[in-house]
Amino acid sequence: MRKLMVAGNWKLNGSQVMLRQWLADYAESAADREAVEVALCVPYVYVPVLKELAAADVTVGAQDLSAHEKGAHTGEVSAAMLKDVGAELVLVGHSERRQDHFESDALVREKCQQALSQNLTVVVCVGESRQQRETDKTFVVIKQQLDAFSDLITADNVGRFLVAYEPIWAIGTGLTASAEQAQEVHQFIRSQLAAKDVTMARQIRLLYGGSCKGSNAFELFSMPDVDGGLIGGASLTAEDFMAICREA
Ligand code: 13P
Repeated sequence: MRKLMVAGNWKLNGSQVMLRQWLADYAESAADREAVEVALCVPYVYVPVLKELAAADVTVGAQDLSAHEKGAHTGEVSAAMLKDVGAELVLVGHSERRQDHFESDALVREKCQQALSQNLTVVVCVGESRQQRETDKTFVVIKQQLDAFSDLITADNVGRFLVAYEPIWAIGTGLTASAEQAQEVHQFIRSQLAAKDVTMARQIRLLYGGSCKGSNAFELFSMPDVDGGLIGGASLTAEDFMAICREA
């Protein structure tokens, strides 16, 4: 049985005040804390605050990490540094990183390796653009993105290795993939992984991301291969975020 995860991704949003308010509201909210694993991925500088103030059931997350271990790489933050300030989970290969910072599949792979070297939970994001979907390239694109890192998933680390399917056309647009569209791609991802290792493919958690909110979460999370969500806009307040968690 795969435990659902609902992970917030604050992107370039937030402040100390906002984070403190979020955590206070979260602590007060009524929800079944056993049913779902909750994670919050905040900008690097807020990771220590999150670690200090978060309830024990909130997994402390960051949104990126360096592909390098250490050295002359100005502005970068290493896996060991994230670990040092209390991060437990990190996003890798978000489409905004791939687009804005030209992150390649090869780089995404290196970042996964760095995260795994520090025993961080890794959430690798994959997803097609609107143009790719409209020209029937969705599965080709997803397969290529998956193939870049899927051999790194093992029986030992499958519990802390997740894949998030985030169709780019659904991110921040209000255009959610239908539950059927999400399921179709999630099933494809799981079948691709099953070709390598059936047990691992059954165990790995696959998150959906892209305009997920309280009103559509139940339908999405009811799909057999959707094991939770990666939430952008609707993670910025604890109220909106918990509305999603309650559907899990
Ligand atoms: P939205 O939920 O704002 O569409 O963002 C999804 C996302 O990119 C999460 O990583």
